[in-house]
Amino acid sequence: MLKIANRVSSLKSSSIMEISARAAQLKAQGHEVISLAAGEPDFNTPEPIQAAVTAAMKEGITKYTPAPGFQKLREAIAKMVSTENGFPVDPEEVLVTSGAKHGLYLALQCLVDPGEAILIPTPSWVSYRPMIDLAGASVIPLPLYEEDGYRPNIERWKGMAIPPNAKGIIINSPNNPTGVVYSREELVKLTGWALQRNLWIISDEIYEKIIYDNLTHTSIAALGPEAKKASITISGFSKSYAMTGWRFGWAIADKPFVAKMAALQSQSNSHVTSFVQWAALTACTLSPSIGASMVAEFDQRRRYCMERLDKLSPHLTYTRPTGAFYIFINLSKWLLAHKMTDLEFCKELLDKEYVGAVPGSSFGKEHSIRISYATNIENLKKAFDRIEAYLNR
Ligand code: PMP
Ligand code: GLU
Repeated sequence: MLKIANRVSSLKSSSIMEISARAAQLKAQGHEVISLAAGEPDFNTPEPIQAAVTAAMKEGITKYTPAPGFQKLREAIAKMVSTENGFPVDPEEVLVTSGAKHGLYLALQCLVDPGEAILIPTPSWVSYRPMIDLAGASVIPLPLYEEDGYRPNIERWKGMAIPPNAKGIIINSPNNPTGVVYSREELVKLTGWALQRNLWIISDEIYEKIIYDNLTHTSIAALGPEAKKASITISGFSKSYAMTGWRFGWAIADKPFVAKMAALQSQSNSHVTSFVQWAALTACTLSPSIGASMVAEFDQRRRYCMERLDKLSPHLTYTRPTGAFYIFINLSKWLLAHKMTDLEFCKELLDKEYVGAVPGSSFGKEHSIRISYATNIENLKKAFDRIEAYLNR
């Protein structure tokens, strides 16, 4: 067997992707599986973006592009973000990335040195920790509490010693896995707390367009020049325009930092696929009503899930989600009574009831599960019927 490098010896695949693969396997065996595991919109990419990619291929946009992305696209993203997110962006501050995920990877590779640490309000998305491990750095979880509605409460961290090797913090609102949208006031406090500690901020805003209850999204970089200088904003269209498979996103940071991320990109994946970039130009100018109709649909599903969960209140509690398409469910009472871990619960739910969900421990919070409601109501109804029967067994 080939000798595997130490750097990746303990690296595992994304647990969410593994559960999704297992769900697909069971489906292929003929079982009626409903996966509420992966956070992936079930809609197709809007028609104008599809048409743009076909046109791009016909026009021969199939060659190498500049590593940071087509200049026209960087300009379009800069313009869109300046208008919609309320902070000025120069095209040279934009890097086109292979999804938000690779943007995060490049940002962490360029930001942290071995021996340094990154703080993460937790529960948190599954890929942050492995990416930090790969940079040779460590993670310091900042606990979020269900009784605070999983909102950042800096008072809670007062007694915590933040070591001098702490280099940055990852902030993710709207949040995966909790679905919580932080208010502007909360972000002002959290950003102030981070800046006082000389932390750089990675702001993962991939769910920025998926927000309910008339709430609004606040970008960290929009909180003032100091916040902008200290932050790397990560976002993309994967979730808002159902473009998960396209592998397209962007990172915004100061010019020297973006140049370094671009150098790393040029030495690894070169750039994002040329015709995907070309189609993304169309996505940047799409009518907001296209995204709004998907959000309206997600909202109906969200309300349906909450109704069903409310009926299960003897067994569980959950935090009302106001963004993204996830619900984080506390099952500790039921799991304790049945002497099961969240991992065992999700495994049984998939193998016996054919419903996919992600264990909370994957996000750093045990005794919980995350479900995604990015699937139609009919599927949600079937999934909840099975979950209900399983919990009441
Ligand atoms: N950040 C979070 C919080 C996510 O849930 C995801 C999942 N897709 C990503 C980043 C990566 O997004 P993309 O598909 O654009 O790489
Ligand atoms: N981000 C999605 C999720 O949290 C997809 C999984 C992944 O990218 O690893 O479900």
